[in-house]
Amino acid sequence: QAELAMYKVKESGRNNISFYDPQMQIEILQRKQMESDLEHAIINDEFSLFYQAQVSNNNGVIGAEALLRWFHPKQGIIYPDNFIPQLEETGLIIPVGEKILHDGCQKLQLWANIPEFSQLTLSINVSAVQLLHEGFSDYIKQLVARFEIKPGRLKLEITESIFIENIDATIAVMNELANYGVLFSLDDFGTGFSSLCYLKSLPLAQLKIDKSFVKDLLEDESDIAISKTIVNLANSLKFNVIAEGVESAEQQALLQQIGCNNYQGYYFHRPAEAHEFEAFTLDYNSHKVSDQSQEDGLGLAH
Ligand code: C2E
Ligand code: MG
Ligand code: MG
Ligand code: MG
Repeated sequence: QAELAMYKVKESGRNNISFYDPQMQIEILQRKQMESDLEHAIINDEFSLFYQAQVSNNNGVIGAEALLRWFHPKQGIIYPDNFIPQLEETGLIIPVGEKILHDGCQKLQLWANIPEFSQLTLSINVSAVQLLHEGFSDYIKQLVARFEIKPGRLKLEITESIFIENIDATIAVMNELANYGVLFSLDDFGTGFSSLCYLKSLPLAQLKIDKSFVKDLLEDESDIAISKTIVNLANSLKFNVIAEGVESAEQQALLQQIGCNNYQGYYFHRPAEAHEFEAFTLDYNSHKVSDQSQEDGLGLAH
């Protein structure tokens, strides 16, 4: 507990509110409770990573996104939207984020030694607070060296919100890591602070079409137009592109039609524990390979 204190944002900076409003009193108490729950969660190691497959038309499962889960002893599984903001606000995202990066890189090391998994990439979400925290790039480099992984297997997902403040500092950290070989993906693209001019100065490898555009893709012409534009933009800038939130074969087909060949979503795979993701990958890719050899066989016959 004492060790966690060093990460935390000073109390006075946060709860500096009048104590006469009872509603606010309640909110402050709830936040305090949450904060102490989060500290316990760190100490008791209640956080772990789920993995969701990323699939390409030509190569089957090409990677995974690591998604944080909190296994609360009383409340059960808690999803990140319900606690990441408070982790960021309190500064506790730093130790939690380091554990996520550590576990993710350890997983990449394990995969590197298994031929069926050795080409997989792992995408890890990082927030602005983490990226701008002193020593972030050194921490990543240490992990990459320690686990002897190829830096290009690690993909960091950031969102546009990261560029609202400290654009120059953010770009500097990104450049340092990109030069080292780590990949960057721009998550939830098109939903945030979208200024096209910064895109050209960022060392990105990938744009990620947000699931809000995929959701009604089949019915909504403007979602098709936006998705198409993102794909064309990615192609022009030599970035890879992936769609998230793909829930049906029809959505995949339409995405493929507009030139997007990489997908993530419940239609393929739901986030799951590592061993389940690994079993899925073996199964999916073995079918993929046998489909391919059948096609090759036909090709030879002609
Ligand atoms: P994200 O990075 O955009 O992750 C995609 C979210 O969409 C995940 O929610 C995933 O479970 C969900 N999803 C995947 N396929 C589908 C689908 O077909 N349909 C629908 N409706 N949803 C789908 P999740 O796991 O609840 O994570 C929510 C957000 O929390 C993430 O959004 C990310 O911003 C943040 N997050 C998750 N893990 C971490 C982490 O380790 N560190 C940080 N800093 N943030 C994280
Ligand atoms: Mg993400
Ligand atoms: Mg996203
Ligand atoms: Mg999101």
